[in-house]
Amino acid sequence: SRREGFSSIPNVKWEDIGGLDHLRQEFERYIVRRIKYPEAYEEFGVNHETGFLLYGPPGCGKTLIAKAVAYEAGANFIHIKGPELLNKYVGESELAVRTLFSRARTCSPCIIFFDEVDALTTRRGKEGGWVVERLLNQLLIELDGAEQRQGVFVIGATNRPEVMDRALLRPGRLGKLLYVPLPSADERGLILKALARKKPIDDTVDLCAIGRMEACENLSGADLAALMNEAAEAAAEEKWTSTESTCNASTIKFRHFDMALRKISPS
Ligand code: ATP
Repeated sequence: SRREGFSSIPNVKWEDIGGLDHLRQEFERYIVRRIKYPEAYEEFGVNHETGFLLYGPPGCGKTLIAKAVAYEAGANFIHIKGPELLNKYVGESELAVRTLFSRARTCSPCIIFFDEVDALTTRRGKEGGWVVERLLNQLLIELDGAEQRQGVFVIGATNRPEVMDRALLRPGRLGKLLYVPLPSADERGLILKALARKKPIDDTVDLCAIGRMEACENLSGADLAALMNEAAEAAAEEKWTSTESTCNASTIKFRHFDMALRKISPS
C-alpha cells in the first residue's frame, strides 16, 4: 500500500468504472474542467466547492472514482487512510495534516483522497477524543484556507457518514455530499463490462444478462470484481487441466461465470 503523502497520477480511467454516470458528471463539472480550463472559470468568477464527501456501502467505487477524477484531470493523487494521520504524540497529527496540504500545494493540481475519513472526524468529546479533536481542528484550518489552496481538491470517503463531525461537512469544507450506491441490476452489467475490458470474454457471453441474474442481487462492485476473477480462474484451470483438445479455446464462458456465482455472495 501507499506511503503517506506519496503522490502520483493514478491509472484509472472513466471507462474502468461501470455506472455512476451521475457522479462522473458532477466531478467533470466540479473538478476536471476546472483543472483543465482554469481561465474560463476565473474569467466568470465561478466559485465552486473544492471539498467532497463520497459516502455509501463498501466496495462500490469510491476509491475508484476518486482515482479516475485525478487521471482525467491530469492531477496528482495523494491517497491517505484516515487512521494513518492519527498519531499519539502531541502535535504530530497536526504536523502531519499541515505537511500533507503543503505537499499537495507543491504538486498541484492535486487531489487529496481521505479514505475512512470518519476515523479522524468521529464526533468530538468521545473516547480517544483529544488527538482527533486537534487533528480535526487542523484539518478545518487547512480546508478553510481555500484561497491558498489553488488547484488542491479534497475528496473524503466513508461508509459511516452519520458518525462524522458536522463541522467538516459545511460548505467550503467537505461541502458537497455525494452518495455512491449499491449498483442496480443494469449497473451490475455495466460494471462487469468495465471489469471485462482486459479479459478474454467469449463472444457468446452476455454480461448484461449475467448482471440481471438473481444470483447477482445485492453484489457490490468489489463483489463483481471477485466474481470476474473467479470466472477467469475457472477458465484458466479448465484450460490447464483439460486433456481434451476441444477445450483449448482461451476464453471465459458462461459456465465459468456460473461456477463462480456459486462461490460469491454479497459481502
Ligand atoms: P471501501 O469503502 O471499502 O473503501 P470503495 O467504495 O472505495 O470501498 P473501491 O475500492 O472503489 O470501493 O472498489 C473496490 C474494487 O471493486 C475496485 O478496485 C473495482 O475492482 C471494483 N469496483 C467497485 N465499484 C466499481 C465500479 N463502479 N465499476 C468497476 N469496478 C468497480
